[in-house]
Amino acid sequence: MNTKRITRLLEFAYPLCLEIPRPKKHVSLVLRKGRVVSVGSNAMKTHPLAKEHGYMFEEMHSELDAFLRCGEPKKGLTLFNIRFNRMGQMRMARPCHRCMPWCVGVFDSIWYTTDEGVMLHGEGLLPINRGVKESRNEEIHTIP
Ligand SMILES: [Zn+2]
Repeated sequence: MNTKRITRLLEFAYPLCLEIPRPKKHVSLVLRKGRVVSVGSNAMKTHPLAKEHGYMFEEMHSELDAFLRCGEPKKGLTLFNIRFNRMGQMRMARPCHRCMPWCVGVFDSIWYTTDEGVMLHGEGLLPINRGVKESRNEEIHTIP
């Protein structure tokens, strides 16, 4: 995804994040052929399938929520995990250690926000560093 595409997706997800009545505001977008096909959040306390997974998912994680909603075919999928705090600053949204293994299995690529910017899983480059409040201040960063 290029910077323009990432920026548009961040703008799409930003208000959704802020609507989540939880301290950690996670939104997951699933894209197929570049189109958003589902949106998940960690807003729900429980989900039938989360319960089925038992201890694995005591509560809904946004990427599982999005994956369950994305329909068929379950291939050619990209995940974009997004988290903002209430100040509108990007925060770390890397899939947790329970989610990352199955995410790597089902998604062709995994993008997520960090405190520093947006990261593509498996790559060292942070292609974009953008708080919504400083939308004109795009910077390219590499991890030291
Ligand atoms: Zn998780």
